[in-house]
This record gives sequence, structure tokens and C-alpha cells, in this order.
Amino acid sequence: MRVPIIAGNWKMNTTVIEAAALVNEMCSGLDKIDGVEKVICPPFVSLAAVKELIKDSSIRLGAQNLYFEEKGAYTGEISPLMLADLCEFVIIGHSERRQYFNETGEIVNKKVKAALKAGLKPILCIGERLEENEAGRTEEVVTGQLKSALVGIDNLSTLSIAYEPVWAIGTGRAATGNQANETIGLIRRTISAKYGDRTANALRILYGGSVTADNIAEFVSQPEIDGALVGGASLKADQFLGIVSQTSKIK
Ligand code: PEP
Repeated sequence: MRVPIIAGNWKMNTTVIEAAALVNEMCSGLDKIDGVEKVICPPFVSLAAVKELIKDSSIRLGAQNLYFEEKGAYTGEISPLMLADLCEFVIIGHSERRQYFNETGEIVNKKVKAALKAGLKPILCIGERLEENEAGRTEEVVTGQLKSALVGIDNLSTLSIAYEPVWAIGTGRAATGNQANETIGLIRRTISAKYGDRTANALRILYGGSVTADNIAEFVSQPEIDGALVGGASLKADQFLGIVSQTSKIK
């Protein structure tokens, strides 16, 4: 049995005060929902304040990125060691990082390794762009990203994967439950071929891309889909609560 995860990626939204207000709005409601790992990923600058606010709850905390070096002359970067004191999860390889900050497969791989070394739980994002999807290259792109992210990594026990087709992120154009289930099944088979059935069957693989309280049921009712990475809808307390509570009822 895989415990589902619903993770909220707040992206570059909310000041510290706004982040605290949003947490206060959803904390007690989220805390009451069982059977789902509830993860919120505010911006770096709000992690400490949010950590304090959720300390007596079942809500888990994640960061949206990290740098792969532990310390040194890397002005403006945040190291895995800094995050390990603050949070449990870290999103790695989000398509916005790949697109706007030129993160390559090699960089994503270094980040996954660095996160694991520091005891952080990576949520590794992979997904094809629209033109790749339309050219029938989804399988090739997704398995290629997966393989390069996992080079030299033997233990996947604390890692989760988010399959996020880039054309579905922030567009309001979600994949269908069937499409997402099919690609996530492919990801699981790719993991199985390299790491064996046991690892593949234990690995949580999420869908991400325009998930809302109105369409979450379509995704989490699919056998391969173990939850969601949620962007825009995670900034609205009623939406995020709706997503988590439906997941808890369906999974
Ligand atoms: C995301 O940022 O990972 C995401 C899936 O965004 P949205 O839910 O807004 O499409």
C-alpha cells in the first residue's frame, strides 16, 4: 500500500506574512484529514515561520529547490544542509527550473543526490513539453529525464516522482486521468526494470498539472497515481483542502 501525497507548490508567491495567513487558514482543516501525506512548499524565506506554525500538526514542510553543494562561495544559493534543519521534502527538477534556470539532467541528478545525502526527501519532477507530446515523444522524454535524474542512485525509498506534463502546468488544461495513469505506469515500469518490482511498487508517483478540487478525483481514482503536486490551487485554502479531503476518501 502506498500512502498518497498531496504537495502544494506555492512557487514564487506569498510574502512571509501572507504565507503565515494561508497556513493559518488551512492548518486545522488539513490536520484533521488522515491517510494522506500533506506537504506544503512555501518560498525559502517563509520556511522557518511556517515550520513554527505547523509544528503541532500533521502537515509536512518542503522546499521548492536547493543547490547541490553543501556550503561555500555560491552567492544566493540555499544548501541541502540549510534545508535539512527546516524541512523534510524538496521539489527538484520542476519544469520552471529546467525552462527558466537552465537546469539540465546532470544538474537535477546532482541535486537529487545532494538532497538524499542530507536526509531530505526529493519530489523529482519530470514531464514532456507540448511539442514533444505532439511529436509522440512523451515516452522517450520522460524515461530519458528519469534515467538521467537517477544516475548513481541506488536507494529510492525516500524519493517520490511527480509526472508533470509541461503543457498542463498552470494552463488550466490538465491531462486526462487515463493519459496520466498511462504515463505514470510507464514510469513505474521503467523503475521496475532498473530497481526491481519491489522498489517500483513502493514508489509514490504523483500527477501534476492544473489539478483542482474539481478534477482531483479523476486522477487519484487511477491505480497508478499516488497523489498530486498542486501549484495554483494550493494557494487557495478551500481548493487545497478539497483536494486533500477527496484524496483521503478515494485512495
Ligand atoms: C506545479 O507547479 O507543479 C503545478 C502543477 O502547477 P499548476 O497546478 O498550477 O498547474
